[in-house]
Amino acid sequence: MIARPISNLYIEHYQRKEMAGIPIPCRNMKMNKNAKIETICVQGGYEPQNGDPRILPIIQSTTFKYDSSDDMGKLFDLEASGYFYSRLQNPTCDTVAKKICELEGGVAAMLTGSGQAANFYAMFNIAGAGDHIVSSAPIYGGTSNLFTVTMKKMGIEVTLVDPDASEEEIAKAFRPNTKALFGETISNPSCIVLDIEKFARIAHSHGVPLIIDNTFATPVNCRPFDFGADIVVHSTTKYMDGHAMAVGGCIVDSGNFDWNAHADKFPGLTTPDESYHGIIYTERFGKLGYITKATAQLMRDLGSIQSPQSAFLLNVGLETLALRMERHCYNAQKVAEFLEANEHVAWVSYPGLASSKYHALAEKYCPKGTCGVLAFGLKGGRDTAVKFMDSLKMIAIVTHVADVRSCVLHPASHTHRQLTEQQLIEAGVQPDLIRFSVGIEHVDDILADVQQALDAAYKA
Ligand SMILES: *Cc1c(COP(=O)(O)O)cnc(C)c1O
Repeated sequence: MIARPISNLYIEHYQRKEMAGIPIPCRNMKMNKNAKIETICVQGGYEPQNGDPRILPIIQSTTFKYDSSDDMGKLFDLEASGYFYSRLQNPTCDTVAKKICELEGGVAAMLTGSGQAANFYAMFNIAGAGDHIVSSAPIYGGTSNLFTVTMKKMGIEVTLVDPDASEEEIAKAFRPNTKALFGETISNPSCIVLDIEKFARIAHSHGVPLIIDNTFATPVNCRPFDFGADIVVHSTTKYMDGHAMAVGGCIVDSGNFDWNAHADKFPGLTTPDESYHGIIYTERFGKLGYITKATAQLMRDLGSIQSPQSAFLLNVGLETLALRMERHCYNAQKVAEFLEANEHVAWVSYPGLASSKYHALAEKYCPKGTCGVLAFGLKGGRDTAVKFMDSLKMIAIVTHVADVRSCVLHPASHTHRQLTEQQLIEAGVQPDLIRFSVGIEHVDDILADVQQALDAAYKA
Protein backbone atom coordinates (compact mmCIF):
# COMPACT_ATOMS: atom_id res chain seq x y z
CA MET A 1 0.00 0.00 0.00
CA ILE A 2 1.31 3.41 -0.83
CA ALA A 3 1.48 5.09 2.55
CA ARG A 4 1.03 8.61 1.22
CA PRO A 5 -1.56 8.92 -1.50
CA ILE A 6 -0.25 10.58 -4.62
CA SER A 7 -3.06 12.53 -6.18
CA ASN A 8 -2.90 13.26 -9.89
CA LEU A 9 -4.41 16.62 -9.10
CA TYR A 10 -1.20 17.69 -7.44
CA ILE A 11 1.30 16.62 -10.02
CA GLU A 12 3.81 19.26 -10.93
CA HIS A 13 6.54 18.40 -13.35
CA TYR A 14 9.89 19.23 -11.84
CA GLN A 15 11.54 20.43 -15.06
CA ARG A 16 8.73 22.83 -15.83
CA LYS A 17 8.79 24.20 -12.31
CA GLU A 18 12.50 24.54 -12.58
CA MET A 19 12.07 26.57 -15.73
CA ALA A 20 9.38 28.69 -14.14
CA GLY A 21 11.66 29.16 -11.14
CA ILE A 22 8.97 28.07 -8.71
CA PRO A 23 10.65 26.22 -5.85
CA ILE A 24 8.12 23.44 -5.34
CA PRO A 25 9.90 20.18 -4.57
CA CYS A 26 9.38 17.48 -7.13
CA ARG A 27 7.99 14.16 -6.05
CA ASN A 28 10.82 12.06 -7.34
CA MET A 29 13.42 13.71 -5.17
CA LYS A 30 16.01 11.04 -5.86
CA MET A 31 15.82 11.44 -9.62
CA ASN A 32 18.15 13.94 -11.27
CA LYS A 33 16.16 17.10 -11.98
CA ASN A 34 17.33 17.08 -15.58
CA ALA A 35 16.71 13.38 -15.96
CA LYS A 36 16.52 12.23 -19.54
CA ILE A 37 13.48 10.52 -21.00
CA GLU A 38 15.07 7.05 -20.66
CA THR A 39 15.49 7.64 -16.93
CA ILE A 40 11.93 8.90 -16.47
CA CYS A 41 10.63 5.77 -18.25
CA VAL A 42 12.28 3.68 -15.55
CA GLN A 43 12.27 5.91 -12.48
CA GLY A 44 9.32 8.26 -13.01
CA GLY A 45 6.02 8.08 -11.20
CA TYR A 46 6.44 5.69 -8.31
CA GLU A 47 8.77 6.78 -5.56
CA PRO A 48 8.85 4.17 -2.82
CA GLN A 49 9.61 5.43 0.67
CA ASN A 50 11.44 3.59 3.42
CA GLY A 51 10.11 0.03 3.60
CA ASP A 52 7.63 0.45 0.72
CA PRO A 53 7.42 -2.22 -2.01
CA ARG A 54 10.16 -1.77 -4.62
CA ILE A 55 7.62 -2.26 -7.42
CA LEU A 56 4.47 -0.18 -7.91
CA PRO A 57 1.74 -1.97 -5.93
CA ILE A 58 -1.61 -2.80 -7.50
CA ILE A 59 -4.17 -1.18 -5.22
CA GLN A 60 -7.00 -3.51 -6.11
CA SER A 61 -9.62 -1.75 -4.05
CA THR A 62 -12.78 0.01 -5.12
CA THR A 63 -12.82 2.15 -2.01
CA PHE A 64 -10.75 3.66 0.82
CA LYS A 65 -11.47 3.85 4.52
CA TYR A 66 -11.73 7.04 6.59
CA ASP A 67 -12.08 7.55 10.32
CA SER A 68 -14.78 10.19 10.37
CA SER A 69 -17.75 11.35 8.40
CA ASP A 70 -16.16 14.77 8.19
CA ASP A 71 -12.96 13.40 6.62
CA MET A 72 -15.04 11.77 3.93
CA GLY A 73 -17.24 14.83 3.39
CA LYS A 74 -14.25 17.05 2.65
CA LEU A 75 -13.19 14.69 -0.11
CA PHE A 76 -16.60 14.90 -1.76
CA ASP A 77 -16.44 18.67 -1.67
CA LEU A 78 -12.96 18.58 -3.26
CA GLU A 79 -11.75 20.41 -0.16
CA ALA A 80 -9.24 17.74 0.75
CA SER A 81 -7.16 15.52 -1.48
CA GLY A 82 -7.47 11.80 -1.04
CA TYR A 83 -8.96 8.64 -2.40
CA PHE A 84 -12.48 7.50 -1.79
CA TYR A 85 -13.70 5.58 -4.82
CA SER A 86 -11.66 4.13 -7.68
CA ARG A 87 -13.99 5.48 -10.36
CA LEU A 88 -12.57 8.90 -9.52
CA GLN A 89 -9.04 8.09 -8.50
CA ASN A 90 -6.89 5.12 -7.63
CA PRO A 91 -3.29 5.29 -6.37
CA THR A 92 -1.91 2.77 -8.88
CA CYS A 93 -3.53 4.57 -11.81
CA ASP A 94 -2.49 7.99 -10.53
CA THR A 95 1.12 6.94 -10.12
CA VAL A 96 1.26 5.73 -13.71
CA ALA A 97 -0.49 8.92 -14.88
CA LYS A 98 2.22 10.81 -13.03
CA LYS A 99 4.96 8.98 -14.93
CA ILE A 100 3.31 9.79 -18.27
CA CYS A 101 2.88 13.39 -17.08
CA GLU A 102 6.59 13.57 -16.36
CA LEU A 103 7.43 11.98 -19.71
CA GLU A 104 5.36 14.58 -21.57
CA GLY A 105 6.49 17.48 -19.40
CA GLY A 106 2.96 18.35 -18.27
CA VAL A 107 1.48 19.52 -14.97
CA ALA A 108 -1.37 17.03 -14.51
CA ALA A 109 -2.58 13.81 -16.07
CA MET A 110 -5.27 11.17 -15.79
CA LEU A 111 -5.56 7.63 -17.07
CA THR A 112 -8.65 6.49 -18.94
CA GLY A 113 -10.03 3.10 -19.89
CA SER A 114 -9.01 3.47 -23.54
CA GLY A 115 -7.56 5.87 -26.04
CA GLN A 116 -11.08 6.50 -27.29
CA ALA A 117 -12.15 7.59 -23.81
CA ALA A 118 -9.10 9.86 -23.58
CA ASN A 119 -9.95 11.58 -26.85
CA PHE A 120 -13.60 11.90 -25.94
CA TYR A 121 -12.95 13.30 -22.46
CA ALA A 122 -10.25 15.66 -23.71
CA MET A 123 -12.84 17.21 -26.05
CA PHE A 124 -15.99 16.87 -23.99
CA ASN A 125 -14.25 18.56 -21.06
CA ILE A 126 -14.38 21.82 -23.03
CA ALA A 127 -17.00 21.31 -25.77
CA GLY A 128 -20.71 20.56 -25.48
CA ALA A 129 -23.93 20.70 -27.47
CA GLY A 130 -23.88 23.69 -29.82
CA ASP A 131 -20.09 23.77 -29.99
CA HIS A 132 -17.72 23.03 -32.82
CA ILE A 133 -14.23 21.57 -33.12
CA VAL A 134 -11.66 21.49 -35.91
CA SER A 135 -9.60 18.40 -36.55
CA SER A 136 -6.92 17.32 -38.93
CA ALA A 137 -8.58 14.89 -41.36
CA PRO A 138 -6.01 12.08 -41.40
CA ILE A 139 -6.55 10.59 -37.96
CA TYR A 140 -7.26 7.19 -36.43
CA GLY A 141 -10.51 5.66 -37.75
CA GLY A 142 -12.01 5.32 -34.26
CA THR A 143 -11.37 8.97 -33.48
CA SER A 144 -12.81 9.94 -36.83
CA ASN A 145 -16.01 8.01 -36.01
CA LEU A 146 -16.11 9.54 -32.55
CA PHE A 147 -15.88 13.08 -33.93
CA THR A 148 -18.04 12.78 -37.02
CA VAL A 149 -20.75 10.38 -35.83
CA THR A 150 -21.05 10.05 -32.06
CA MET A 151 -20.14 13.57 -30.99
CA LYS A 152 -22.31 14.91 -33.78
CA LYS A 153 -25.25 13.12 -32.16
CA MET A 154 -24.37 14.96 -28.96
CA GLY A 155 -24.61 18.27 -30.78
CA ILE A 156 -20.89 18.88 -31.30
CA GLU A 157 -19.93 19.57 -34.88
CA VAL A 158 -16.54 18.90 -36.40
CA THR A 159 -14.80 20.32 -39.45
CA LEU A 160 -12.00 18.18 -40.86
CA VAL A 161 -9.09 20.02 -42.45
CA ASP A 162 -6.16 19.05 -44.63
CA PRO A 163 -3.16 19.34 -42.28
CA ASP A 164 -0.92 20.33 -45.17
CA ALA A 165 -3.13 23.28 -46.15
CA SER A 166 -1.95 26.83 -45.46
CA GLU A 167 -2.69 28.58 -42.18
CA GLU A 168 -5.15 30.85 -43.98
CA GLU A 169 -6.97 27.88 -45.45
CA ILE A 170 -7.21 26.02 -42.12
CA ALA A 171 -8.29 29.21 -40.34
CA LYS A 172 -11.42 29.29 -42.54
CA ALA A 173 -12.71 26.23 -40.68
CA PHE A 174 -12.98 28.17 -37.41
CA ARG A 175 -16.25 29.58 -36.12
CA PRO A 176 -17.12 31.68 -33.08
CA ASN A 177 -18.22 28.49 -31.27
CA THR A 178 -15.05 26.50 -32.06
CA LYS A 179 -13.53 25.09 -28.87
CA ALA A 180 -10.45 23.11 -29.89
CA LEU A 181 -8.10 22.10 -32.68
CA PHE A 182 -7.04 18.45 -32.88
CA GLY A 183 -4.40 16.42 -34.70
CA GLU A 184 -2.11 13.39 -34.41
CA THR A 185 1.67 13.86 -34.21
CA ILE A 186 2.02 10.95 -36.63
CA SER A 187 -1.29 9.90 -38.11
CA ASN A 188 -2.60 6.36 -37.84
CA PRO A 189 -2.35 4.68 -40.33
CA SER A 190 -1.13 7.10 -43.01
CA CYS A 191 2.04 8.20 -41.12
CA ILE A 192 1.56 11.89 -41.90
CA VAL A 193 3.67 14.10 -39.64
CA LEU A 194 1.75 17.07 -38.29
CA ASP A 195 3.29 20.55 -38.31
CA ILE A 196 2.55 21.04 -34.61
CA GLU A 197 3.89 24.61 -34.46
CA LYS A 198 1.67 25.65 -37.35
CA PHE A 199 -1.34 24.03 -35.70
CA ALA A 200 -0.52 25.69 -32.37
CA ARG A 201 -0.34 29.11 -34.03
CA ILE A 202 -3.72 28.57 -35.70
CA ALA A 203 -5.35 27.31 -32.49
CA HIS A 204 -3.97 30.11 -30.34
CA SER A 205 -4.88 32.85 -32.79
CA HIS A 206 -8.47 31.60 -32.43
CA GLY A 207 -8.31 31.41 -28.64
CA VAL A 208 -8.57 27.62 -28.40
CA PRO A 209 -6.21 24.89 -27.19
CA LEU A 210 -4.35 22.51 -29.48
CA ILE A 211 -5.01 18.88 -28.51
CA ILE A 212 -2.49 16.40 -29.88
CA ASP A 213 -2.81 12.63 -29.98
CA ASN A 214 0.81 11.58 -29.43
CA THR A 215 0.18 7.82 -29.49
CA PHE A 216 2.48 6.91 -32.38
CA ALA A 217 5.46 9.14 -31.62
CA THR A 218 5.31 8.68 -27.83
CA PRO A 219 7.11 11.25 -25.65
CA VAL A 220 10.32 9.35 -26.36
CA ASN A 221 10.31 10.63 -29.94
CA CYS A 222 8.29 13.84 -29.64
CA ARG A 223 7.02 16.03 -26.82
CA PRO A 224 4.25 18.14 -28.39
CA PHE A 225 4.26 20.61 -25.46
CA ASP A 226 7.73 21.71 -26.57
CA PHE A 227 6.12 22.89 -29.83
CA GLY A 228 3.10 24.69 -28.42
CA ALA A 229 0.50 21.93 -27.96
CA ASP A 230 -1.69 22.44 -24.88
CA ILE A 231 -3.10 19.01 -24.19
CA VAL A 232 -1.75 15.61 -25.16
CA VAL A 233 -3.78 12.40 -25.39
CA HIS A 234 -2.61 8.83 -25.73
CA SER A 235 -3.89 5.43 -26.51
CA THR A 236 -1.59 3.72 -24.01
CA THR A 237 -2.72 0.47 -25.64
CA LYS A 238 -0.03 1.01 -28.26
CA TYR A 239 3.70 1.62 -27.71
CA MET A 240 3.38 2.68 -24.08
CA ASP A 241 2.02 -0.72 -23.11
CA GLY A 242 3.92 -2.16 -26.03
CA HIS A 243 3.04 -5.80 -25.51
CA ALA A 244 -0.65 -5.81 -26.52
CA MET A 245 -1.67 -6.59 -22.94
CA ALA A 246 -4.16 -3.92 -21.87
CA VAL A 247 -6.36 -1.28 -23.49
CA GLY A 248 -5.91 2.14 -21.95
CA GLY A 249 -5.57 5.87 -22.47
CA CYS A 250 -4.17 9.00 -20.89
CA ILE A 251 -4.75 12.77 -20.99
CA VAL A 252 -1.94 15.14 -20.05
CA ASP A 253 -2.31 18.89 -19.59
CA SER A 254 0.64 21.22 -20.19
CA GLY A 255 -0.92 23.80 -17.91
CA ASN A 256 -0.08 26.42 -20.54
CA PHE A 257 -3.48 27.30 -21.96
CA ASP A 258 -4.98 30.37 -20.30
CA TRP A 259 -8.65 29.41 -19.95
CA ASN A 260 -9.45 32.66 -18.17
CA ALA A 261 -8.18 34.73 -21.08
CA HIS A 262 -10.98 33.12 -23.10
CA ALA A 263 -13.40 32.67 -20.23
CA ASP A 264 -16.53 33.13 -22.36
CA LYS A 265 -15.51 30.18 -24.54
CA PHE A 266 -14.92 27.79 -21.65
CA PRO A 267 -17.68 28.36 -19.09
CA GLY A 268 -17.29 24.80 -17.77
CA LEU A 269 -13.89 25.74 -16.41
CA THR A 270 -14.43 29.39 -15.58
CA THR A 271 -17.93 29.51 -14.06
CA PRO A 272 -19.32 27.71 -10.98
CA ASP A 273 -19.91 23.95 -11.13
CA GLU A 274 -23.23 23.44 -9.37
CA SER A 275 -22.43 19.77 -8.85
CA TYR A 276 -19.56 20.82 -6.55
CA HIS A 277 -21.20 23.63 -4.57
CA GLY A 278 -20.27 26.17 -7.18
CA ILE A 279 -16.51 25.79 -7.29
CA ILE A 280 -14.77 27.35 -10.28
CA TYR A 281 -12.13 24.96 -11.55
CA THR A 282 -9.63 27.50 -12.87
CA GLU A 283 -9.98 29.61 -9.72
CA ARG A 284 -9.67 26.79 -7.20
CA PHE A 285 -7.17 24.58 -9.03
CA GLY A 286 -5.28 26.99 -11.29
CA LYS A 287 -3.20 25.10 -13.84
CA LEU A 288 -4.67 21.83 -12.59
CA GLY A 289 -8.24 22.94 -13.35
CA TYR A 290 -8.65 21.14 -16.66
CA ILE A 291 -7.61 17.70 -15.37
CA THR A 292 -9.44 18.25 -12.09
CA LYS A 293 -12.66 18.92 -13.98
CA ALA A 294 -12.14 15.90 -16.23
CA THR A 295 -11.63 13.71 -13.17
CA ALA A 296 -14.17 15.18 -10.80
CA GLN A 297 -16.92 15.68 -13.35
CA LEU A 298 -16.46 13.49 -16.43
CA MET A 299 -14.96 10.45 -14.72
CA ARG A 300 -17.51 10.76 -11.93
CA ASP A 301 -20.42 10.82 -14.36
CA LEU A 302 -19.21 8.73 -17.28
CA GLY A 303 -16.80 6.17 -15.80
CA SER A 304 -14.25 4.69 -18.24
CA ILE A 305 -11.44 4.25 -15.76
CA GLN A 306 -8.36 2.24 -16.38
CA SER A 307 -8.19 -0.71 -13.99
CA PRO A 308 -5.31 -0.82 -11.48
CA GLN A 309 -4.23 -4.15 -12.99
CA SER A 310 -4.00 -2.58 -16.44
CA ALA A 311 -2.16 0.45 -15.08
CA PHE A 312 0.37 -1.89 -13.47
CA LEU A 313 0.98 -3.60 -16.82
CA LEU A 314 1.21 -0.22 -18.52
CA ASN A 315 3.88 0.82 -16.05
CA VAL A 316 5.93 -2.28 -16.83
CA GLY A 317 5.64 -1.39 -20.50
CA LEU A 318 6.69 2.21 -19.90
CA GLU A 319 9.89 1.06 -18.22
CA THR A 320 11.25 -0.20 -21.56
CA LEU A 321 9.52 2.33 -23.84
CA ALA A 322 12.67 4.22 -24.78
CA LEU A 323 14.59 1.04 -25.63
CA ARG A 324 11.74 -0.40 -27.63
CA MET A 325 11.10 2.78 -29.62
CA GLU A 326 14.72 2.83 -30.70
CA ARG A 327 14.46 -0.71 -32.09
CA HIS A 328 10.99 -0.18 -33.60
CA CYS A 329 12.34 2.84 -35.50
CA TYR A 330 15.53 1.08 -36.59
CA ASN A 331 13.63 -1.93 -37.92
CA ALA A 332 10.90 0.16 -39.58
CA GLN A 333 13.52 2.24 -41.39
CA LYS A 334 15.13 -0.95 -42.78
CA VAL A 335 11.75 -2.37 -43.80
CA ALA A 336 10.73 0.92 -45.45
CA GLU A 337 13.98 1.03 -47.43
CA PHE A 338 13.56 -2.61 -48.44
CA LEU A 339 10.00 -2.02 -49.64
CA GLU A 340 10.89 1.17 -51.47
CA ALA A 341 13.53 -0.72 -53.47
CA ASN A 342 11.17 -3.60 -54.34
CA GLU A 343 9.74 -3.77 -57.85
CA HIS A 344 6.28 -4.91 -56.65
CA VAL A 345 5.79 -2.03 -54.26
CA ALA A 346 3.73 0.86 -55.64
CA TRP A 347 4.41 3.29 -52.83
CA VAL A 348 5.72 3.48 -49.26
CA SER A 349 4.80 6.06 -46.64
CA TYR A 350 7.33 6.30 -43.87
CA PRO A 351 8.55 9.69 -42.68
CA GLY A 352 12.04 8.26 -42.10
CA LEU A 353 12.52 7.85 -45.85
CA ALA A 354 14.39 10.70 -47.51
CA SER A 355 11.81 10.53 -50.31
CA SER A 356 8.91 11.12 -47.91
CA LYS A 357 6.94 14.32 -48.23
CA TYR A 358 7.05 14.46 -44.43
CA HIS A 359 10.76 13.83 -44.01
CA ALA A 360 11.60 17.44 -43.12
CA LEU A 361 8.76 17.62 -40.56
CA ALA A 362 9.89 14.29 -39.10
CA GLU A 363 13.46 15.59 -38.72
CA LYS A 364 12.12 18.64 -36.93
CA TYR A 365 9.56 17.05 -34.63
CA CYS A 366 10.96 13.52 -34.25
CA PRO A 367 14.74 13.79 -34.68
CA LYS A 368 15.33 10.43 -32.95
CA GLY A 369 12.90 8.60 -35.24
CA THR A 370 9.16 8.56 -35.75
CA CYS A 371 7.63 5.17 -34.97
CA GLY A 372 7.57 1.56 -36.09
CA VAL A 373 4.46 1.88 -38.21
CA LEU A 374 4.60 2.36 -41.95
CA ALA A 375 2.10 2.17 -44.75
CA PHE A 376 2.58 0.86 -48.26
CA GLY A 377 0.70 -0.26 -51.32
CA LEU A 378 1.46 -3.15 -53.68
CA LYS A 379 1.11 -3.05 -57.44
CA GLY A 380 -2.10 -4.91 -58.20
CA GLY A 381 -4.09 -3.09 -55.53
CA ARG A 382 -6.56 -4.53 -53.06
CA ASP A 383 -6.50 -8.19 -54.15
CA THR A 384 -2.72 -8.39 -54.16
CA ALA A 385 -2.65 -6.77 -50.72
CA VAL A 386 -4.89 -9.51 -49.37
CA LYS A 387 -2.82 -12.25 -51.07
CA PHE A 388 0.40 -10.81 -49.65
CA MET A 389 -0.99 -10.60 -46.13
CA ASP A 390 -2.39 -14.11 -46.24
CA SER A 391 1.04 -15.39 -47.30
CA LEU A 392 2.89 -13.94 -44.32
CA LYS A 393 4.02 -16.55 -41.80
CA MET A 394 5.56 -14.89 -38.74
CA ILE A 395 3.97 -11.49 -39.25
CA ALA A 396 0.33 -11.79 -38.19
CA ILE A 397 -2.83 -10.07 -39.37
CA VAL A 398 -4.17 -8.42 -36.23
CA THR A 399 -6.25 -5.40 -35.31
CA HIS A 400 -3.45 -3.79 -33.45
CA VAL A 401 -0.36 -1.72 -33.96
CA ALA A 402 2.63 -0.73 -31.99
CA ASP A 403 3.52 -3.78 -29.99
CA VAL A 404 6.66 -5.90 -29.94
CA ARG A 405 5.32 -8.39 -32.52
CA SER A 406 5.30 -7.40 -36.18
CA CYS A 407 1.81 -7.29 -37.61
CA VAL A 408 -0.14 -6.04 -40.62
CA LEU A 409 -3.64 -4.80 -41.26
CA HIS A 410 -5.59 -3.69 -44.31
CA PRO A 411 -7.55 -0.68 -43.02
CA ALA A 412 -9.97 -0.58 -45.99
CA SER A 413 -11.06 -4.13 -45.11
CA HIS A 414 -10.67 -3.85 -41.34
CA THR A 415 -10.45 -0.76 -39.10
CA HIS A 416 -11.81 1.72 -41.65
CA ARG A 417 -14.33 -0.52 -43.39
CA GLN A 418 -17.25 1.72 -42.36
CA LEU A 419 -15.81 4.55 -44.41
CA THR A 420 -16.72 5.16 -48.03
CA GLU A 421 -13.97 5.27 -50.67
CA GLN A 422 -14.10 9.07 -50.56
CA GLN A 423 -13.89 9.15 -46.75
CA LEU A 424 -10.99 6.71 -46.92
CA ILE A 425 -9.04 9.03 -49.16
CA GLU A 426 -9.85 12.02 -46.93
CA ALA A 427 -8.60 10.06 -43.94
CA GLY A 428 -5.34 9.49 -45.81
CA VAL A 429 -6.12 5.81 -46.35
CA GLN A 430 -5.64 4.57 -49.89
CA PRO A 431 -7.82 1.50 -50.60
CA ASP A 432 -4.65 -0.55 -51.25
CA LEU A 433 -2.91 0.68 -48.07
CA ILE A 434 -1.32 -2.02 -45.91
CA ARG A 435 -0.49 -0.84 -42.41
CA PHE A 436 2.68 -2.54 -41.27
CA SER A 437 3.55 -2.33 -37.59
CA VAL A 438 7.18 -3.34 -37.44
CA GLY A 439 8.06 -5.13 -34.23
CA ILE A 440 11.32 -5.65 -32.41
CA GLU A 441 12.20 -9.09 -33.80
CA HIS A 442 15.52 -9.25 -35.67
CA VAL A 443 15.06 -7.24 -38.83
CA ASP A 444 16.50 -10.05 -41.00
CA ASP A 445 13.65 -12.34 -39.96
CA ILE A 446 11.05 -9.65 -40.64
CA LEU A 447 12.49 -9.00 -44.09
CA ALA A 448 12.68 -12.72 -44.87
CA ASP A 449 8.98 -13.12 -44.10
CA VAL A 450 8.09 -10.10 -46.24
CA GLN A 451 10.20 -11.44 -49.10
CA GLN A 452 8.61 -14.90 -49.10
CA ALA A 453 5.11 -13.37 -48.94
CA LEU A 454 5.93 -11.10 -51.89
CA ASP A 455 7.20 -14.13 -53.80
CA ALA A 456 3.96 -15.98 -53.03
CA ALA A 457 1.73 -13.02 -53.92
CA TYR A 458 3.35 -12.51 -57.31
CA LYS A 459 3.82 -16.18 -58.22
CA ALA A 460 2.35 -16.69 -61.71
C1 LIG B 1 -5.59 3.11 -31.16
C2 LIG B 1 -5.64 4.55 -31.23
C3 LIG B 1 -6.65 5.27 -30.57
C4 LIG B 1 -7.75 4.60 -29.79
O1 LIG B 1 -7.19 3.97 -28.69
P1 LIG B 1 -7.87 2.69 -27.95
O2 LIG B 1 -6.93 2.48 -26.83
O3 LIG B 1 -7.89 1.59 -28.95
O4 LIG B 1 -9.23 3.10 -27.54
C5 LIG B 1 -6.62 6.65 -30.63
N1 LIG B 1 -5.67 7.28 -31.33
C6 LIG B 1 -4.69 6.62 -32.00
C7 LIG B 1 -3.67 7.39 -32.75
C8 LIG B 1 -4.65 5.24 -31.97
O5 LIG B 1 -3.68 4.60 -32.64
